[in-house]
Amino acid sequence: MVITYRSTRGKAPELGFADVLLAGLATDGGLYVPTEIPELGEGITDELSYSEIAIAVMWPFVEGSIGRADFVAMVTDTYRGFSDPAVAPVFDLGHNQWLCDLSFGPTLAFKDFALQLLGRLLDYELTKRDERVTVIGATSGDTGSAAIHALANRERVEVVILHPEGRVSEIQRRQMTTVDAPNITNLAVAGNFDDCQDLVKEAFGDADLRVGARLAAVNSINWARVMAQTAYYVSAARRVSPSGAAVSFSVPTGNFGNVLAGWYAKHMGLPIDQLIVASNRNDVLTRVLESGALVAESVVPSLSPSMDIQISSNFERLLFEASGGDGDAVTELLSTFRATGTVQVPDAWMDRIREEFDGGRLDDDGTLAEMRRVHSELGILVDPHTAVALHVGRNRRRDPDVPLIVLGTAHPAKFGAAVAEATGVTPEVPDRAGDLMNLPERFHSVPNDLGAIRPYLPLQSGSGEKHA
Ligand SMILES: *Cc1c(COP(=O)(O)O)cnc(C)c1O
Repeated sequence: MVITYRSTRGKAPELGFADVLLAGLATDGGLYVPTEIPELGEGITDELSYSEIAIAVMWPFVEGSIGRADFVAMVTDTYRGFSDPAVAPVFDLGHNQWLCDLSFGPTLAFKDFALQLLGRLLDYELTKRDERVTVIGATSGDTGSAAIHALANRERVEVVILHPEGRVSEIQRRQMTTVDAPNITNLAVAGNFDDCQDLVKEAFGDADLRVGARLAAVNSINWARVMAQTAYYVSAARRVSPSGAAVSFSVPTGNFGNVLAGWYAKHMGLPIDQLIVASNRNDVLTRVLESGALVAESVVPSLSPSMDIQISSNFERLLFEASGGDGDAVTELLSTFRATGTVQVPDAWMDRIREEFDGGRLDDDGTLAEMRRVHSELGILVDPHTAVALHVGRNRRRDPDVPLIVLGTAHPAKFGAAVAEATGVTPEVPDRAGDLMNLPERFHSVPNDLGAIRPYLPLQSGSGEKHA
């Protein structure tokens, strides 16, 4: 079986996996989704290693674009770099609740699962085509460090990451700026996260720059990221419920990429009862589940900053599926939303969405209380994103006899100040993060202006030669 991919806006050509990997966004502005969802193969049992499960889950999505042996080697190499032998271990929290800890990658957050693989896939495909790209991205913290660690020293990729100067935590900044690789450039922009994002959009909007520097993106609209994340749903479900009985998941949610991977796992045949979308006070997704109205409000900073999002880009993929694959209807809905900041999702779509997702929110006080409760009752430290999902999951689960698996998306040391405020304990930064506090930092401070960014975006030729 060879799966092709179509755009959620219905106007871009269908592509194979490798083209989708390099394209990121479709030419009509949509996101790529698979034209069919494969069934999980027989024989994916709790006896397989994480890598073996990941290969079995992902293979149908890449077949026809990548050789089997090459793919097996890339996946195996990716997860060999995680510091727990189980890669995505699950811990029993009592009361039929489980924590799947996704923080064992090099940057201590779940984004490593997808980005570590994406870096290898990109290098592989660009080598095959004898091409180079410049990955440019804006970050409020986690995505930038995960992308830098995934792409450092990759031969075919230049990386330029913009962060708002003085507005990311010290550990997040050091995770980006202490990486010593010739293809990595960190720019500290005099502005906030939105300014950084606008600069990236402006760079993509500049045709000379986009084509000349061969700009590429690795943000969570890239299909390969969603695909890679489906694997830990399967692995966690198999470990908690080897008999194959249904489980539920509670997922700390921002851009909707993580929980959407759960939806794909379910539609591949994984028995999932509830998918619970956990938001902080930036609760656009909870509100749409409640009212059917998609309403953008301004982002309010919270203790769980990786969920401080009001426009969850991956939600477009779910809207497309809920519409029955109607790209025109999705295009119209989203253009109304862009023009007015609010739109009503059709009832028929909402009925399908509500059948498969529950949602809930937790504010900062609740998040601190949850971190404190978990520490005093269970003796463990959790980060604020995970705390939101623990609380919301407990509140929204329907059936206590169905195991509830909470996805732990970051190591507590990444958000040490919030954890210390809640519990009085400052979590230790694990060794795998490297000697962050002593290594020299490398970054350039730049004004909030595309002209100042341009010199850092080298022109690329298609033939593997780099021009200054
Ligand atoms: C990115 C991130 C999230 C949100 O994930 P989405 O896929 O954007 O919904 C949650 N927690 C942490 C720690 C993150 O880094």
